[in-house]
Amino acid sequence: MNDQQLLRYSRHILLDEIGIEGQQHLLDARVLIIGLGGLGSPAALYLAASGVGHLTLCDHDTVDFSNLQRQIIHRTATVGQSKVSSARATLYDINPEVECVALNIRADEAQLLELVGKADAVLDCSDNFATRYAINRACLAQRKPLVSGAAIRFDGQIEVFDFRRDDGPCYNCLFPEDSIAAELRCATTGVFAPLTGMIGSLQAAEALKLLMGIERGLSGKLLTINALDMNIMRSNLSRDAACSVCGIIPSPLQGGRGCGYESLSGVDNE
Ligand SMILES: [Zn+2]
Repeated sequence: MNDQQLLRYSRHILLDEIGIEGQQHLLDARVLIIGLGGLGSPAALYLAASGVGHLTLCDHDTVDFSNLQRQIIHRTATVGQSKVSSARATLYDINPEVECVALNIRADEAQLLELVGKADAVLDCSDNFATRYAINRACLAQRKPLVSGAAIRFDGQIEVFDFRRDDGPCYNCLFPEDSIAAELRCATTGVFAPLTGMIGSLQAAEALKLLMGIERGLSGKLLTINALDMNIMRSNLSRDAACSVCGIIPSPLQGGRGCGYESLSGVDNE
């Protein structure tokens, strides 16, 4: 680390839990962020400011005027541009040292597998179940830690699946793909702007700890936030032995468990 880096990251280095060694881990790290919307915006900003050395940004969308209410990495002037190039410009403004690759694509399964394979940690900041399941499968296959976030209306959630371990659950254990889930989208349902900031910032915090080998936090856990009552709840997740993605017991009967906070499988509230 040079003098400028020691100064830039001094408030991390001062922390006993991080120090020079932890900061160096961040500088050497590669993170894949899928989705540069409400969650990906704060997550990417904090990861870049924190000095994560290499960020790969993946999003096929362009910046829309209605995004600006919460997608704080984008600017009024970048409406109409691809989200990844808009985001990259902001990140370079904050920290020109970060190597930032902008992929203006909707990654298919093969591309995801390749991108995940090159990353040390993956942030799922997408807004649809199909992408979430695909990311979960890719991270499990490549044994890469996954930080998954979601926010709609006033309700948000974050889960951490550290696939470097053998015993943890996966996203599909929590929300089985073959269960009938109603997909709510911000475009039609609405979302409270600071809630996306809270969840995205939590995703960045969890990713940084995973990269530095700090084994405290949300690994194998679910944290839900209701930003209306400001009720925050943390629950332990358990692996579903019959999970069709990571399970060890093949089961043809997995339907009917529903999807949502009320009907989560394998959740043990703390
Ligand atoms: Zn599973």
